[in-house]
Amino acid sequence: MVDLTLDTDHVPDVAEDGVWLSCIECNETYAPFDDVIYECDACGGLLEARYADYATFDDFAGEGVWRYADALPVSGSVSIDEGNTPLYEVPGIAEEVGVADLRVKHEGMNPTGSFKDRGMTVGVRVAERLGVGRLVCASTGNTSAALAAYGARANMETLVLLPAGKVAAGKLAQAGLHGATILEVDGNFDDCLDIVSELAEMGEAYLLNSLNPFRLEGQKTIGLEMLEQSTAATGEWPDRIVLPVGNAGNTAALHKAFRELVAAGAMDEDEVPMLTGVQAEGAAPMVEAIENDYDEVRGWDDVETRATAIRIGKPVNAPKALPAIRQTGGTAVAVSDDEITDAQRALAEDGIGVEPASAASVAGLRKLRENGVIEDDERVVCLTTGHLLKDPDAAAAAGGEPTPVPNDVEGVLDVL
Ligand SMILES: *Cc1c(COP(=O)(O)O)cnc(C)c1O
Ligand SMILES: [Zn+2]
Repeated sequence: MVDLTLDTDHVPDVAEDGVWLSCIECNETYAPFDDVIYECDACGGLLEARYADYATFDDFAGEGVWRYADALPVSGSVSIDEGNTPLYEVPGIAEEVGVADLRVKHEGMNPTGSFKDRGMTVGVRVAERLGVGRLVCASTGNTSAALAAYGARANMETLVLLPAGKVAAGKLAQAGLHGATILEVDGNFDDCLDIVSELAEMGEAYLLNSLNPFRLEGQKTIGLEMLEQSTAATGEWPDRIVLPVGNAGNTAALHKAFRELVAAGAMDEDEVPMLTGVQAEGAAPMVEAIENDYDEVRGWDDVETRATAIRIGKPVNAPKALPAIRQTGGTAVAVSDDEITDAQRALAEDGIGVEPASAASVAGLRKLRENGVIEDDERVVCLTTGHLLKDPDAAAAAGGEPTPVPNDVEGVLDVL
């Protein structure tokens, strides 16, 4: 397994402003803002941003993603006030599952309704710095909504490739209104990603999927913000973070946030929360790899789930996310679509509206409490990644039906 300890002693010549890219497999280093590069030229491995200095809590000031500017690769921003999302208490679910403390970090409260905004505010700024004019992504929906909004804000052309018929209505509407060119592919997400990766290699557009190491830098701020909010609310950090897994970008990004705090001396290795991934049963290659102790994730060709945001068979960030889960002592678990919908209802009963993929985190928590993997003395944060209104059809199907009444008070009183 790759060694993800951050070296704080050596700054390579290729560094610019104390930032460089490093291959997680072979440690080859690259200049961050000279050429457009997504994967290691030497071995094809995933890249990661590295810094001459790692920021600590004292360095953070302001609000939202750019509060953490000292931990980010660029300054200046294409910002729509992303980040600063609530860390909610959930009394109903907390009582039901019985852990020492339970919070929900609701990333659906970002400007376009998902955590993707945190990655885009950084990624689009890097695109500006690189001088590229056209942005592209493959998407199950939320990446395209965020890219369209941030691309519009930066006056850049945006191109999105989506699996035809598999994108929730709210997400498609956002991409369209923010002016992206939307291409519907007769295939699944993984097929779309193959095509945009090739377009990016040909230099046709700058790729802002989570393969892009700069996007994950923005998503790192979920972890930093969560720690600061936990300290403010309870005086303690969570023992465990439970999150939905699609391409596993967030799993990798949260781990990166904590590794950097360890490198900066702001967190002990044994204080890093256990990263616990949840997938839908119909799209669970990460869970399979964890359960079977595989060295690598074996991609699934056919995937299906109501949680369309995690309907992904070949998680591109698996080489970062598998060590993230293993090295933090976390685990991964699969849940059924019905368990996801039940969890979506449970969150709604606590007043929190999420899309199906987000509810997977709570469904996973329930399952891991039932089988005793998560213990009753743990402090847990569930990450809910997208807003209820993203997928109005799923919400309507999970919720109650309207009752028709006559146009008078008596008729209304009759049904009360
Ligand atoms: C993108 C997305 C995910 C998957 O996140 P990864 O970082 O790819 O694992 C989960 N939920 C929602 C709502 C998303 O938009
Ligand atoms: Zn390499």
